Amino acid sequence: MVVMEVKLLAPYGYCSGVVLAMKKALDAKKEHPDANVYLLGNLVHNEEAVKELRDAGLLLIDERESNLLDALLDLRRGDVVVFSAHGHPASYDDLAELKGLVLIDATCPFVKENTLEGQECGRPLIYAGVKGHLECEAFLANCPDAVFLDAKDGSFNYLKVKGKREDPILICQTTLSLEEVERAKAEVLKFFPAATIGKERCLSTKSRQEAVLNLSKGEVDALIVLGSSSSNNSVKLAEIGKGKGIPTFLCLGIEEVSRLDLSSFHKVALCSGASTSREAVLRVKDYLESL
Ligand code: SF4
Repeated sequence: MVVMEVKLLAPYGYCSGVVLAMKKALDAKKEHPDANVYLLGNLVHNEEAVKELRDAGLLLIDERESNLLDALLDLRRGDVVVFSAHGHPASYDDLAELKGLVLIDATCPFVKENTLEGQECGRPLIYAGVKGHLECEAFLANCPDAVFLDAKDGSFNYLKVKGKREDPILICQTTLSLEEVERAKAEVLKFFPAATIGKERCLSTKSRQEAVLNLSKGEVDALIVLGSSSSNNSVKLAEIGKGKGIPTFLCLGIEEVSRLDLSSFHKVALCSGASTSREAVLRVKDYLESL
């Protein structure tokens, strides 16, 4: 007898950027089986996905434990280095070439588009992001004139926005929540009413957030977000669920889900961050339906 009904929210599983990055990293090891193949920073923010890469023989340089620039400087000629899906400072490319490393760029095309718009806009630039996140740090390194706006509270130093005769443009990190984007826009327009809004969340982030936002009141008793607490887009999905008043659980995978007490819930919505595999989602769905 099935007592738990599961509403699986689409899209789920890896986004296109993660599919591409995982393929590039796994191919790098296949093509260079005898070389040391390093991931410079977590390729994607999901411990299970990174474990799959480590199991395939790739070596992780974790940005939470090491300074990535120092680690890059320590690599040896002939080593292979895979740059993460979140982007990296362009100066790392030159450094890798100078050191005789084999460089694999796994940057997501959506991250590249946002960076390119910043580099080519030719106008005062404001960037809304999460301080310390690889994508945010890479953007600020590649667009050094950008003024950082803290996505958490919308604060930024408007006095630093240069070229006051031109209206600034706001670009956002690809994985912010709708609420953060709206807050950033409102703060920028407060100081620069003619500012324009450039690229912001990627399609995958938007559609996953919309699926949670569109849950109607009373439709489900709880929401499970499958993703890592280090994944910005997963954390945002959980924040949106909680903001709607739905009891929400952010779990990395089936082990964490199996430790939840779900006995008081009968209809649960299940969604996933962009770096959680389809297989992991379906495993949890089967488990929930067996309760
Ligand atoms: S979440 Fe968006 S920006 Fe990040 S890897 Fe996926 S498609 Fe690219």
